[in-house]
Amino acid sequence: MIGILKGMATTFGHLLRPNFNGDYPATPKVLPERARMSLKLRLDDDGVPLCKSCGLCERSCPDRAIHIVSSKREDGPGRVLERFEVDMGLCMYCGLCVEMCPSAGLEPSGDFEVATARKEDTHRVLWPSASTPSDARRARGDSDDVTAEAVTT
Ligand code: SF4
Ligand code: SF4
Repeated sequence: MIGILKGMATTFGHLLRPNFNGDYPATPKVLPERARMSLKLRLDDDGVPLCKSCGLCERSCPDRAIHIVSSKREDGPGRVLERFEVDMGLCMYCGLCVEMCPSAGLEPSGDFEVATARKEDTHRVLWPSASTPSDARRARGDSDDVTAEAVTT
């Protein structure tokens, strides 16, 4: 009996607290700076990736979620980034790639709305043209209601 009363007290205690989700998705949430979410490449002032194509993140990713294509520079040492892809469906958001990048070339994108019913939407091209799962859904004109989408597919 005491256990039931304690449980009900906890339940009613939560009823009196403010709604954590606010009116999301009408008003998008801003996640904390250190929150882990989908990735993007950092660019310099000229729009060129800070990534030096060292391949460290690709080799170190525990889930093999990163795929990089680069070529040798013709005007000096180093490599030119041709393509940078990441499959957020494989990524476990460990943050290892962001932490270990010697060029600070990767960072969280701010896009956490990555839930999708389509496997192909988890694959993202970060360079040369950045795309996000949310972009892909908007381009198709899909509903933002991923749950409804999942039920109908
Ligand atoms: S993002 Fe960083 S770690 Fe990954 S290839 Fe580019 S420079 Fe190297
Ligand atoms: S966050 Fe972790 S799992 Fe995701 S791409 Fe980076 S290293 Fe791989």
